[in-house]
Amino acid sequence: MKLQIIGDPVLHSKSPVIQGAMLGALGLDIPYTPHVVRRGELPQYLAWARDSGVSGFNATMPHKEDLLPLLDHIDPAARAMGAVNTVCLRDGKWVGFNTDGAGAAAALRDSLGIDPAGMTVTLLGAGGAAKAVALALAASRAERVFVCNRTVERAQTLCAQDPLGRLAPAEFDPETLVRCAARSRLLVNCTNLGMAGCPHQFADFSFLDALPPGAGVFDLIYHPARTELLSQAKRRGLKTLNGLPMLVNQAVLALERFLNRPLDRKAMAAVAAGALEDNPAAF
Ligand code: NAP
Repeated sequence: MKLQIIGDPVLHSKSPVIQGAMLGALGLDIPYTPHVVRRGELPQYLAWARDSGVSGFNATMPHKEDLLPLLDHIDPAARAMGAVNTVCLRDGKWVGFNTDGAGAAAALRDSLGIDPAGMTVTLLGAGGAAKAVALALAASRAERVFVCNRTVERAQTLCAQDPLGRLAPAEFDPETLVRCAARSRLLVNCTNLGMAGCPHQFADFSFLDALPPGAGVFDLIYHPARTELLSQAKRRGLKTLNGLPMLVNQAVLALERFLNRPLDRKAMAAVAAGALEDNPAAF
């Protein structure tokens, strides 16, 4: 059995450190390696992987959407998201999953004690990560999720894909963010703003003042570990969570799919988080 992560670029990925640590903790001698696959090379990769004993792989940019028509079966959550991040060979068939949304839900529950059921949420962004989190919040029966995006048409497209009708598109200007935040007990940042290497930052943080006391602020970014958004939220006494628990939880869920058996998720998440702490270069 061999496992891989494919993408382009992929050599910077943290997944080999995380998955390697979890496989080691389980006493399994299964290699998990990065493999560069360029856009357009997926059919050749799938044939090669099958012949080479690769029984599962994670996928990152630019393959998450392009894999869908090439697989034999797609799990309903991945189908709804239109993207897969985990692929397993089961009985000779390639099966695709997406663990990003469930990883975010697990992080919210386990690290912040938040169950989104019945909640109104403000979600910033409408890219790939925003879609996974927004659909997971809707599936967790959040009452309303305001999807605020700079390019509002992208937010409209995302919200139209919610079969439950719980997602509402909104603009990204300061007044709209304040209005949405005032009705929300959770705010989730799924934009690049504040990420290491991103030249831009939030223009102002007045939307944080509009959140009710005790509200949660979840920033998907994990590098840096504490973004300016989280610092500002903490200063206002709000509950905060960075992207690391989501990263770790989506990896645990992917490993469950690869091994096709349930794992002690909290124990595995702790192993994965510890491996990242021991390997800061993995960031
Ligand atoms: P993406 O598809 O490229 O989406 C980027 C989003 O950021 C879009 O909504 C974009 O708005 C918005 N944005 C970018 N620059 C902006 C600016 N200057 N002002 C306002 N909005 C701006 O990226 P992604 O894959 O969804 O990733 C988004 C973030 O989530 C990244 O920071 C990534 O590291 C993080 N992430 C974390 C995890 C985890 O496990 N913790 C997993 C996946 C992603 P437009 O639509 O207007 O361009």
